[in-house]
Amino acid sequence: MNTQGKNKPGAQSRTDDGHSLSLFTVFGIEVRLDISVIIIFALIVFSLGNGIYASWHPEWTLTMVWGTALFSGIAFFASLLAHELSHSVVSQHFNIPVPRITLFLFGGVAEISREPERPKHEFLIAIAGPLMSLLIAFVCTELALYMASDMDLAGTVSVGDLSVLSDLGPLATSLFWLGSINLLLALFNMIPGFPMDGGRVFRAIIWAITGDKLKATLWASNVGRYFGWFLMASGVIGLLQGQGLGSLWSIMIGWFLSNLATMSYKQLVMDQALGGFNIADVMRTHFETVDAAMPLTEFVDNYLLRSSQRLWPVTVDNRLVGAVSLSQISQLPAKNRAVLTLGEAMSPLESMNFLEPKASAKNAIDTLLKSSDEPMLVIRDGEVLGLVQHSDIVKWMALHRMPAP
Ligand SMILES: [Zn+2]
Repeated sequence: MNTQGKNKPGAQSRTDDGHSLSLFTVFGIEVRLDISVIIIFALIVFSLGNGIYASWHPEWTLTMVWGTALFSGIAFFASLLAHELSHSVVSQHFNIPVPRITLFLFGGVAEISREPERPKHEFLIAIAGPLMSLLIAFVCTELALYMASDMDLAGTVSVGDLSVLSDLGPLATSLFWLGSINLLLALFNMIPGFPMDGGRVFRAIIWAITGDKLKATLWASNVGRYFGWFLMASGVIGLLQGQGLGSLWSIMIGWFLSNLATMSYKQLVMDQALGGFNIADVMRTHFETVDAAMPLTEFVDNYLLRSSQRLWPVTVDNRLVGAVSLSQISQLPAKNRAVLTLGEAMSPLESMNFLEPKASAKNAIDTLLKSSDEPMLVIRDGEVLGLVQHSDIVKWMALHRMPAP
């Protein structure tokens, strides 16, 4: 997998953000390990030690089984890293910097700092990862076959008789498993849904044919979403049929993929549409301001229900003291709504996030997406200049004849 345009300048110097740690730097790329890797690592080692290897080698000692499982788990992450490095090196070849690679729950992500300018570059960057996984699969399998050259491994395994695997030593066993898991990795990543590698390859091809990157992204992210739904549906069917862990896993991956497809498309449309504009261009400048002394009930009846505004600056003597939002009020118990004033129900100024009028409009979108579309105030020198909420940006884009996500 690889991701583009996610990193912000200035965020690159961070060495630790609390849930991931920096391992080492290679080709000028920082390799990080997200804490969630522990879950998948434990799952892999456990399923190898407790299931697969134990059933292939009933005669092995516990130390041999778990030692081989542990080695395989580590080698698996090394091959994930090789996959991401492969994307990264090709990307750097086209002068697109890659500040870091993060290994996390669902695999690895190379943070490619911007979108490639030509479909050919996108194609080569995207295909490099799965090709590396295929290469690793080939080398591991060939090595395992070579080490077991006196056995008819390929012949017996191809007819489904796994008992022959019991004659493999620890290293050959590990290589054999790594070969098949890397083949799976290559195939999985080649699913043609954006932003999977296969989706990027698919997008690059459509982009090259039509010359329309946005349309190509729409097609590729739709395939990604449909595939995510398909995975979730097959997971639910699996659960109903009593298949436990594998089904839960496919529901999780499906959910992750469909979300990622939608988010990536939204991001790209916004980035393209809003490039060159600042927040002052897209913000709402007609808005109501409310007084802190106003009872909440009066506010709900006379303001909240009568306007499409979702965030209101709260003032005392025309001085900004905080803000109150629709989602905030909706979370208040009914009995509180009857007695509180706005001053008591609002978020105080100190605890709020603001936008700067001169900041780029793209940043506003990133911030809105991160805060699940909660509207925000635009402030300069303590004075509210406007509001930014998602629907305003959709309206602005419609006016400028841009496709709204
Ligand atoms: Zn990849």
